[in-house]
Amino acid sequence: MKNSLIQINDTTLRDGEQAAGIAFNIEEKIAIATFLDSIGVQELEIGIPAMGQEETESIRAIANLGLKAKLLGWNRANRSDIQASLNCGLQRVHISVPVSDIQIAAKFHGQWRVMLDRLKDAINFACDCGLAVSVGGEDSSRAEASFLLDVATLAQEWGAFRFRFCDTVGVLDPLTTYNKVRKLITHLHIPVEMHTHNDLGLATANALAGIQAGASSVNTTVNGLGERAGNAALEEVVMALKRIYSIQTGIDTKRLLELSRLVAKASNCPVPPWKAIVGENAFAHESGIHAHGILQNPVTYEPFDPEEVGWERRFVVGKHSGRHLVFSVLQEQGIILNSEEIQLVLEAVRHQAVEVKRSLTVEELLNLVSQTRSYAHANR
Ligand code: MN
Repeated sequence: MKNSLIQINDTTLRDGEQAAGIAFNIEEKIAIATFLDSIGVQELEIGIPAMGQEETESIRAIANLGLKAKLLGWNRANRSDIQASLNCGLQRVHISVPVSDIQIAAKFHGQWRVMLDRLKDAINFACDCGLAVSVGGEDSSRAEASFLLDVATLAQEWGAFRFRFCDTVGVLDPLTTYNKVRKLITHLHIPVEMHTHNDLGLATANALAGIQAGASSVNTTVNGLGERAGNAALEEVVMALKRIYSIQTGIDTKRLLELSRLVAKASNCPVPPWKAIVGENAFAHESGIHAHGILQNPVTYEPFDPEEVGWERRFVVGKHSGRHLVFSVLQEQGIILNSEEIQLVLEAVRHQAVEVKRSLTVEELLNLVSQTRSYAHANR
């Protein structure tokens, strides 16, 4: 697997935007697509052409940017969806069909033959129009394994260049994902793409398991934005591939933080402080033991250099800080305290941090120092 090429097919502009309450305007969509392209993301799923005028305008605008990334539109298995993609100037389309009994019952009244007929017709129509066709099995994770393989094999036969395995409701674990995807890989000769959701917090882990099984493309969204609990996060998948498997995706990781901020702003969804890779606390150190370690050697408590993802290391003084950290932060401000003074400041820091329920700013720390010093002076 180490030498295999894994490509990211980012769907922030399709599945990411499908998240409840998210709506990008055309300028934001263009900015996000341009940024993703500029850092080296190879493929972008940029929307659903069948949604209507506003959506097609932004898809057409992105298609006209002349990006290096391949662009994909999302479609149901019918000619009018495909025609809408064509009208946007797209050259590749994704066609999604339900493959689990639950989904086929809801969307095709249980008539799986009708679903397959529609898929065949949609693929034929798209291929005749000169489009490259990716096919996705919606709810692949809950589909009967032999039926899923039949659908994928037929899609391949009818002309699909890739099959997407979708854990649509995020119910798999990595080992099960591996086994299910492995089965597709051994029987298909077209590449398999992973599409995973985070309902049980396993989207990134399941995407990696699929890649280990042989999938060579993976859907991501920036910040893990997506329906319900979201999708596999681009920054997590890219960094896990890089750090765990030494797989380069061709993406400039130093700009991941900047990308995250762009999407957080456009989606009006700030990332939580503890969010992997891009959260405010991802490289912040407050506790005494950790800060002491980091001051000696950053490798003690950092998985990799923050600069690799565009962050910088931050020391913050708060409830869990110790003498070493307080001393070092104050030293940077040109203040050297003796050990007695440090102890008094430390106690004051702990008291105030609990009161304000956060770590303290440098200014607040300096205030505590002067209060402590005048108190000590008055009691001399
Ligand atoms: Mn999805």
